[in-house]
Amino acid sequence: IKASVMDGDKFENLSNQPANSTEEKSILQKLQDDRKTLPIYHYREQLLQAIADHQVLVIVGETGSGKTTQIPQYLHEAGYTKRGMVGCTQPRRVAAMSVAARVSQELGVKLGHEVGYSIRFEDCTSEKTVLKYMTDGMLLREFLGEPDLASYSVVMVDEAHERTLSTDILFGLVKDIARFRSDLKLLISSATLDAEKFSDYFDSAPIFRIPGRRFPVEVHYTKAPEADYLDAAIVTVLQIHVTQPPGDILVFFTGQEEIETAEEILKHRTRGLGTKIAELIICPIYANLPTELQSKIFETTPEGARKVVLATNIAETSLTIDGISYVVDPGFVKMKSYNPRTGMESLLVNPISKASAEQRAGRSGRTGPGKCFRLYTAYNFNNDLEENTVPEIQRTNLANVVLTLKSLGIHDLLGFDFMDPPPAEALLKALELLFALNALNKVGELTKMGRRMAEFPLDPMLSKMIVASEKYKCSEEVISIAAMLSIGNSIFYRPKDKQVHADNARMNFHTGHVGDHIALLKVYSTWKETNFSTQWCYENYIQVRSMKRARDIRDQLEGLLERVEIELSSNENDLDAIKKAITSGFFHHSAKLQKSGAYRTVKNPQTVHIHPTSGLAQVLPRWVIYHELVLTTKEYMRQVTELKPDWLVEIAPHYYQLKDVEDGMHNYSLMTRKA
Ligand code: ADP
Ligand code: MG
Repeated sequence: IKASVMDGDKFENLSNQPANSTEEKSILQKLQDDRKTLPIYHYREQLLQAIADHQVLVIVGETGSGKTTQIPQYLHEAGYTKRGMVGCTQPRRVAAMSVAARVSQELGVKLGHEVGYSIRFEDCTSEKTVLKYMTDGMLLREFLGEPDLASYSVVMVDEAHERTLSTDILFGLVKDIARFRSDLKLLISSATLDAEKFSDYFDSAPIFRIPGRRFPVEVHYTKAPEADYLDAAIVTVLQIHVTQPPGDILVFFTGQEEIETAEEILKHRTRGLGTKIAELIICPIYANLPTELQSKIFETTPEGARKVVLATNIAETSLTIDGISYVVDPGFVKMKSYNPRTGMESLLVNPISKASAEQRAGRSGRTGPGKCFRLYTAYNFNNDLEENTVPEIQRTNLANVVLTLKSLGIHDLLGFDFMDPPPAEALLKALELLFALNALNKVGELTKMGRRMAEFPLDPMLSKMIVASEKYKCSEEVISIAAMLSIGNSIFYRPKDKQVHADNARMNFHTGHVGDHIALLKVYSTWKETNFSTQWCYENYIQVRSMKRARDIRDQLEGLLERVEIELSSNENDLDAIKKAITSGFFHHSAKLQKSGAYRTVKNPQTVHIHPTSGLAQVLPRWVIYHELVLTTKEYMRQVTELKPDWLVEIAPHYYQLKDVEDGMHNYSLMTRKA
C-alpha cells in the first residue's frame, strides 16, 4: 500500500543527479533543451498560475504541444507531488507506456520508479512513484479501492476529446470528488478546439489554450472511391517515396492484421526498387506490438532514408511522432458498435469523422508544411462523413461500467451526471444482463456474486465464468482460458509461405473437436508442460510473446481468485465441467444451427456464422456458445464451443425456458449446407 503523502524532496533535483558518464549527461542535457522548444514551454508560468487559481481547468492544445509529457513535470517542479501523486490518464495502453517512458528519460530516472505507468494487468509503479500515467480504465478501477483518490494531488484526464467510455465515467466521478476534496486539482486536457463542452460540464471551468504552431497542410483527395484502400495506401506510400522530397510518412490503418499485411507487401515491393531509391524504414505501431519495438517509431530517421509509420488510430492524437511530413489517410477506423435492442456488440471498420480526418491531416504539418493524401473523394469527405465521432458511451455495452458504478455504491444510474447520457435502453440492457448473471438482485442491488465479479478487471461475462468455476471445481483451467481469451487473436501466427504447416499445427489442438476454448486451454497447458519453452512455440506456430502475456495475466487472475476466496482446483479431464463454467458466463451467446448451415442466436434471433479460423468451422455442431461477434464480410462468431442445450436451462433457468432450447427435431442433413 502506497503512502498517501509523498516525500517530494528526494525527487526535487533529479535532473541534477550525477550522471554516470559525460555521454549520459549530454543526452539528459539535450532532452532538457528539447523540452524548452515545445510550444507549451512559453506558457509554463501562466499555466501553473491558472492551476493554482482554479480547482478545475480545461486545457486545450494541438497534438505535440507538450501537454502529456510536460504538464505533469511542471506540476512536480512546482511542488504538487509533495502532497500526493500526479495521475494522468490516457485512453490507450500504448500511449500510457510510451509517454511514461519518455518522461522518465527526460527526468533521468528509471521507469517504474518516480515515473511509472499502470495499465490493465501491468503495474509498473513503486512506492517512489509520483508521476503516474495510466489508462482511464485503471483510474476507474482505483476508485474501487480509494473512492476519494486520496493518494493524488492532481488528476489530469488527458485526451478528453477521445470520449472513451472510461473517460466519460471518470468525468462524473472526478467532478463529484472535487466537490468535497478542495485540495484536489483537476485538469481536463484535449487536443480539439471545442473545449466549451468540457467547460460547461465542469461548472464553467476556465479554458487555458496553448497556441500551437501549425504549418499549412495540402490535402489531396482521390478522384474516385478506392475499392481496396490497403492497396491504394501502399501505392501512395511508394509514390511519395519515389517522387517527394525528404520527410517521413504516417499511414493510418484499422488494426494489427492490416498493418502486418501492409508491412509485408511494402517490404516485398521496396526490394524491387533498386539502389537508386533511398531506403524506406518501415515502423509498425499498434496496441499489441511488443514494447521494445514500439520505441522504434521515435528514432530519428538516418540521413538519406525515409521512415514510414504504419499506425492504428493511436497516432491520431495519442502519440506524436516527430518528422512526419506526409500523411496517408484511408479514412477508416475500427470501432465498437452496440445494438441495445439485441444486446449484440460488434467490432467493425467504419468511416472516420471529419474531426478525425482533420486531426490526421494535422499530423503532417507539425514541423513544416505537410501533405495529406486522403484515399477518398472530396465529395465523400463533404457529404458522407459525420462531423464528430459518437462518444463510446453511446455505442457500447455498458455492463462492465454498470457493475463498477454499482460497486462504488452509485445506484441511481439514470441520475448519474453523464456528459452525454447513454441510451436508456443500453442501461436497461446492462442491468438485465447483470441480473441474469446473478450479479444484481431483483431490485438492482449488488449481490455477493456481483461483488466477487467486480474484483476482476474483465468483462462481466468473463468474470462470471471465473467465479462459476468454483462450482465446477475447475478454476485452474478456467483462468487459463480467460487469460488466453484476453490476449485476443494474436496467439497463432501464420506466415504466408508456411500457411499449411501453421494450420496443421493449429488443428492439432483441436483433436476431438473440443472447441476453441478447450483448444486454447490445451495450448496453454502444453506450453506449461514444456516448462514454457520458446522452442515449442516456434515449432507450433505460436507467438511466444502472446503466451508470456497470457501467463502474466493468468498469474494475476490467480491472485484475484485468492482475494475472492476461490480455491485453485483442477478438473482437466472433465471437459463438460469446464464448458459448463464457460456457459455460466456466456449463456447469452448461444446459437443454434439452421438448415442453411448458418446459425441463429437463440435469444434476439440473428443470423451468424462460425469464423473460418475456428476449429469447429467444418464441424458445425448443432448448439454452440461463442465468445464474441465480429463483423467482416459476415457476422462471425469467434471462439466457439459446442454446448448441450439443456445446460442453458440448467445454468440460466431465469433466462432460458425449455421452449427456447427444444431441438425441434428437423432431421436435416448437414450436407444441405451451402458452400
Ligand atoms: P501532447 O500531449 O500535447 O500531444 P506530448 O507531450 O505527447 O504532446 O509530446 C511532446 C513532445 O514529446 C513531442 O515532440 C513528441 O515527439 C515527444 N515525445 C512524446 N512521447 C515520446 C516518446 N515516447 N519518445 C520520444 N519522444 C516523445
Ligand atoms: Mg498528449
